[in-house]
Amino acid sequence: MTEVMEKPQQDARAATQDFDVLIVGAGISGIGSAYHLKTQNPDKTFAILEAKENIGGTWDTHKYPGVRSDSDLYTFGYRFKPWVGPPIATAEEIRKYLRDVLAENDLDQAIRFGTLITRCSWSTADKRWTVETKRADGSAGPTYRATFLWMCQGYYDHHNPYLPDWAGMADYKGQLIHAQKWDDSVDYSGKDVVVIGSGATAATVIPVLADKAKHVTMLQRSPTYFYCYPNRSDLADRLREIGVDEDTVHRCVRLDYLHNLKMLDRRAREEPDLVFDELKELIRQYAGPDFEFEPHFTPRYRPWQQRLAFIPDGDMFERIRDGKVTAITDTIDHFTADGIKLASGDELKADIVMAATGFNLLMMGGIEFEVDGKVVDWSEKATYRGMMFEGVPNMVWVFGYFRAAWTLRVDLLGDFVCRMLRHMDEKGAQEVNIVIPPALSAEPLMPWIEDDNFNPSYLVRDMDKLPKRLGDQPEWRHTQDYWREAVDIPAIDLEGAEFSYS
Ligand SMILES: Cc1cc2nc3c(=O)[nH]c(=O)nc-3n(C[C@H](O)[C@H](O)[C@H](O)COP(=O)(O)OP(=O)(O)OC[C@H]3O[C@@H](n4cnc5c(N)ncnc54)[C@H](O)[C@@H]3O)c2cc1C
Repeated sequence: MTEVMEKPQQDARAATQDFDVLIVGAGISGIGSAYHLKTQNPDKTFAILEAKENIGGTWDTHKYPGVRSDSDLYTFGYRFKPWVGPPIATAEEIRKYLRDVLAENDLDQAIRFGTLITRCSWSTADKRWTVETKRADGSAGPTYRATFLWMCQGYYDHHNPYLPDWAGMADYKGQLIHAQKWDDSVDYSGKDVVVIGSGATAATVIPVLADKAKHVTMLQRSPTYFYCYPNRSDLADRLREIGVDEDTVHRCVRLDYLHNLKMLDRRAREEPDLVFDELKELIRQYAGPDFEFEPHFTPRYRPWQQRLAFIPDGDMFERIRDGKVTAITDTIDHFTADGIKLASGDELKADIVMAATGFNLLMMGGIEFEVDGKVVDWSEKATYRGMMFEGVPNMVWVFGYFRAAWTLRVDLLGDFVCRMLRHMDEKGAQEVNIVIPPALSAEPLMPWIEDDNFNPSYLVRDMDKLPKRLGDQPEWRHTQDYWREAVDIPAIDLEGAEFSYS
């Protein structure tokens, strides 16, 4: 086996632009889906269309110091490829893992880089999708055709992060940069840095900045829950010590993380105060026994209503203990020439302001969709299990989990799509559609997810752009419940009334 280059050679591409399946995106979802297709349905022809010049999606876009996962890689990694490093991984380690999957399975030649999809049009007469593309320089790219679209384009805009329009931004003489736009040219040595935000990105970048900066201030509108834990798995270490093979280690440690996560998820709903007490105790191990949680580290929501920010080895709290990092809870009134004037009247001086303010949701990678000449408005579409859509044939969207690792759903849906494609072949069907049962046809279309279920700002801001759920039945929504879906999705009856074939 040879390790592939970040951008594999493309000269072996087939002359034809017709495929059975087109996979959109070469991030962790697209690469995992390609693996499943190739190994489970080896007769299918396919290509992966990727707008960027590199693999990795999220793990290529983000380049701020210390960028790393906040899920453990035993569950964020695939079911089929053992993770052998510490549970929390850097972006580079994740990209290396993905490159290995491509090389080990001869998948690298399937990727068409620099191929931005602009429009996908379904023709019922032809039983095909036509996929129009643009090259990186903006010129028209090849047109592809496929019977099935496997959408792995993620959920946010890789080019335009969310940056609020604060008053006075133009007056600021320092450097204001969004975390998603950060690159190596930013020199923060000896500087006063303010990081706006307190989510996973802020928690990741702050300890690394603090090592070279003069001082780092974490400016948050409201506090976040943090989960501090050593970046190692005792179970993995022990299994390796006694000679267990990596496949088995991966399976056992994955089950261990899933079990613990399930317990945490249940307990966070049933006994949120006790869970918070335990999270505080873990933080004290790094921040010191007298660490003060009021007002900057006592959130207003219950644990798990937003993703818990994991802090491996408590690194951010060690920097707070050492006086290198200060947390402030306030709102920005306006920018000044030297920094930020807060609503409280205080002023923060800053040489550099990093906005860790999150992303803008982007439905289906900004691609325009048409079915038989009619434009698809996703916000009016009912979803089947958060993966297929009424009125949009032969298409699946891989939208992962928020509270558990995203990738768990890549494996689950990978099995499902491959099974569905085989089923269609056995029936001689060329088209599959989602049918809403008559009993549900009068149900109102509801937002993708309830506000009190999971409510990070980027979802709340753009919830109206997302497809809709039909009531509360698990078949007609994205449940965000891995444990339920791990049982339900493999058991889906493909001859059930919700599928129609032709
Ligand atoms: C900084 C950061 C850290 C995160 N950490 C975690 C974590 O620890 N655990 C977790 O579960 N989740 C995490 N997430 C969420 C994360 O986005 C997903 O887990 C996962 O990486 C998404 O993978 P994906 O392949 O579905 O999408 P992406 O990583 O977004 O990749 C999508 C790919 O599709 C391509 N694409 C999009 N539109 C088009 C188009 N029109 N034409 C062609 N190509 C297109 C993009 O260029 C991109 O390469 C994190 C997100 C961020 C931003």
